[in-house]
Amino acid sequence: MKFEGIAASPGIGIGPVVPLEREEFAVREIPVPRERVELEVERFLSALEASRHDIRAIRDGIAAELGEHDARIYDAHLLILDDPVLQDTVCGGIRREGRNAEFLFRGFMEGVAAHLENVKDTYLRERTADVVDVERRVLRHLLGNGPRVLPRLDRPSILIAHDIGPSEVALLDRERVAALVTEVGGRTSHGAIVARGRGGAVDGFSGHVEIDPEPPAAAFYHTRSLQLEQEGRSLRMLQSEPAVTLDGRRVELGANIELPGDVDHVLAAGADSIGLFRTEFFYLNRAELPSEEEQVRAYREVAERMSPRPVIFRTMDLGGDKVASYLGTTHEANPFLGWRGIRFALFHPEVFRTQIRAIYRASAHGRVRMMFPMVSSQDELARALQLCADVADELRSRGVPHDPGLEIGLMIETPSAVWISDVLAREARFFSIGSNDLIQYTLAMDRDNERLSHLYEPLEPSVLRSIHHTVEAGHRAGRWVGICGEMAGDPRTAILLLGLGVDELSMSCYDLPRVKAALRSVRHEEAAEVAARALELSAAGAVKELLRQRLEVLLPSFLVAKRSPL
Ligand code: PEP
Ligand code: MG
Repeated sequence: MKFEGIAASPGIGIGPVVPLEREEFAVREIPVPRERVELEVERFLSALEASRHDIRAIRDGIAAELGEHDARIYDAHLLILDDPVLQDTVCGGIRREGRNAEFLFRGFMEGVAAHLENVKDTYLRERTADVVDVERRVLRHLLGNGPRVLPRLDRPSILIAHDIGPSEVALLDRERVAALVTEVGGRTSHGAIVARGRGGAVDGFSGHVEIDPEPPAAAFYHTRSLQLEQEGRSLRMLQSEPAVTLDGRRVELGANIELPGDVDHVLAAGADSIGLFRTEFFYLNRAELPSEEEQVRAYREVAERMSPRPVIFRTMDLGGDKVASYLGTTHEANPFLGWRGIRFALFHPEVFRTQIRAIYRASAHGRVRMMFPMVSSQDELARALQLCADVADELRSRGVPHDPGLEIGLMIETPSAVWISDVLAREARFFSIGSNDLIQYTLAMDRDNERLSHLYEPLEPSVLRSIHHTVEAGHRAGRWVGICGEMAGDPRTAILLLGLGVDELSMSCYDLPRVKAALRSVRHEEAAEVAARALELSAAGAVKELLRQRLEVLLPSFLVAKRSPL
């Protein structure tokens, strides 16, 4: 029996299947007599306190095991419990309506979860699981259910559940859960994030789950998991080696991150730099703007820990689907064609200026670069650069330490920016091609629309020509050109990009070691020849076939190996 799911964590897990029973809560509406109202409020507040106590203990355990970064997920759980609206609604409801705590509490939490489920932003939508996790914890205390019973595993097994919250994943036995399969939840749900920190999924590369596999498939998975162990060992040996081709061409390998705590992963992956620090997280999931000091602290920590390696801070890419309601963003009919990126930032010059000032201040503590997202005209670039010049002047006159030579570039994400890249190169110090957006705008397909996912094709000739055109324009003006979209993280595509003349590749920390191994096993001139040939082809299928034929010979087999028998 085969199933297909969403791959959440790379790796292969093999073992007996153990189901995790669904947890049911018998919540009924019970009238509370007037004289017992204050006792009911007390009972509710004690359940919140007991839940806080549990979560803090889990948080400390995860901080010790996986680090502060992963532990922060539980801070979000504490924030849910401390929400004054939650407390007012439930305590007020008990007093005004004389109804019981669990009934009012569940009603409130269901409302929050239903609201989150309907938002368009995938990251926010997947936060529903956190709300449900907290809801269940509090209900357990209110109903006296005791902790959820997790099965005892006596050997590595595949755990199958309807859903599992991050606090439950934290309690699983790391050594004995070979894989975790759930009916609900996405790649970025916190249950998956904590599970990823703790080990494999069934076929975490493809999302394939096979129950009772036929002997050939079972043999394939066994061999594959042994190979993965071996690959992991050889990739770890490259950690401190440079990404240099056999004929000596050096490529800067950067990492894409979202949080200061991710620097640990960047260093472990053996990156040369951070090629994309997405700063949006400072602005999302909160009620008010982040202060300049808060931003300086975070940017400085990253710059200092990476020094002397460079870090590119991408200025806020808000608006559209990344809604920060306190800045007045609302749902738009066409969010990706809407009020987002640099357009949004220039509309809020004070907010933008504060961020630019924080980045400049951090530049006194490391090698900092800055870039703007979603630029589509020279005017936008000129206005953003003017703000930077004003901020640098102000810092100089106040004697605030900063790097006056900080490199400022922009992301090439729109076809418009591609076609005026010669113009943009006059004022920008570098380009970083944001291929995720460039592909969606070039092919006119919403990158979040699951129905169109088959059209999302980095190897379309129009995309390759756009990259080629940008690299040529950048190089003619003496600028370096990088790429920081997902396509940089695939070893074969990375070779093609090397051949197209890209100077820097930035990707997730997970993909980086494999790309480094790929770059180290080819000659630049071979890659250039493959790229020149690819540019002559008329369809993505033909480019794929070319890469398959040429790179199968050039790359070590584990970088081109078929990853799944399905
Ligand atoms: C991109 O568009 O390729 C990119 C790296 O930016 P983001 O994915 O944050 O839009
Ligand atoms: Mg983008």
